[in-house]
Amino acid sequence: MKIVVLVKQVPEIALIKVDEAANEVVLPQGPGTVNPHDEFAVEEGLRLKEKFGGECLVMSVGNQRTESALRNCMALGVNDAYLLCDEKFEKSDPQAVGRILVAGLKKLGEFDLVLAGRQAVDSDSAQVPGVVAAGFDMPQAMFVKKFEAVDDGKAIVHRITEEGFDVVELALPAVVSVVKEINEPRLPSLKGKMAAKKKQITTWSAADLDLDGSGIGVNSGTRVEKVATPPPRPQGEFIEGETPDELADKLFAKLRDNQII
Ligand SMILES: Cc1cc2nc3c(=O)[nH]c(=O)nc-3n(C[C@H](O)[C@H](O)[C@H](O)COP(=O)(O)OP(=O)(O)OC[C@H]3O[C@@H](n4cnc5c(N)ncnc54)[C@H](O)[C@@H]3O)c2cc1C
Repeated sequence: MKIVVLVKQVPEIALIKVDEAANEVVLPQGPGTVNPHDEFAVEEGLRLKEKFGGECLVMSVGNQRTESALRNCMALGVNDAYLLCDEKFEKSDPQAVGRILVAGLKKLGEFDLVLAGRQAVDSDSAQVPGVVAAGFDMPQAMFVKKFEAVDDGKAIVHRITEEGFDVVELALPAVVSVVKEINEPRLPSLKGKMAAKKKQITTWSAADLDLDGSGIGVNSGTRVEKVATPPPRPQGEFIEGETPDELADKLFAKLRDNQII
């Protein structure tokens, strides 16, 4: 099986600031980290490779700093890493990022499965995997918690819903985004980390890809109208009482009066 995992490098979330005057989200300049949801996608890619043979690759739209995230994935056992990096890609919205990834995947050649995280923890749009599937007109299943079977050119997966889960059969190749319930990601070994340091990362710029530049980077279709810090939450309320029973009664009455229960 040839599996490609889409990996995003995200900044340290706690350090993100909002510049309301400039209408911008200011990202910290640190090395960042692999999007936590993507760690589950990488783990699942590695498990499927170990079960069925083949290779597990990672691909990212990013900048030079993204190399550290890709090396972390190679330290875990990923075969090769591809970085799609160009000044023209900066300021891309999720639609554009998805289209850049489609161009990268096309250059890579045939594959059986594209895996992604459920969403990025910084921008949270959960759009990129769907855009990639649409770009190939390929089956997609989002928020998958289990691969029940992979056989004979198809996969059967469990996709979470608000009520429980659906069992979905997908013809391969397909795009699947995964949730954290799917597995427990492994940690890198020292040997893996050392080997990853020496590995080559293939970098492709816009000129290397068959990509129509309209709608990419600063020409993205999304226009940000306003960026603002959320208003502070209303202060909570302490319920006073002498005994646990009294406290429970008061809490119950309050919840009932507010029609919460
Ligand atoms: C107008 C506009 C301008 C923007 N400008 C910038 C900018 O200058 N710099 C910047 O960093 N961001 C910018 N962004 C944010 C950027 O568009 C998103 O971070 C990006 O498109 C991915 O969307 P998301 O983070 O919501 O990912 P989601 O769709 O929530 O991610 C779901 C999954 O898709 C995959 N994925 C997501 N992004 C990537 C990626 N880059 N490479 C590989 N796989 C990926 C991962 O598997 C991830 O778990 C901008 C957004 C808008 C709307």
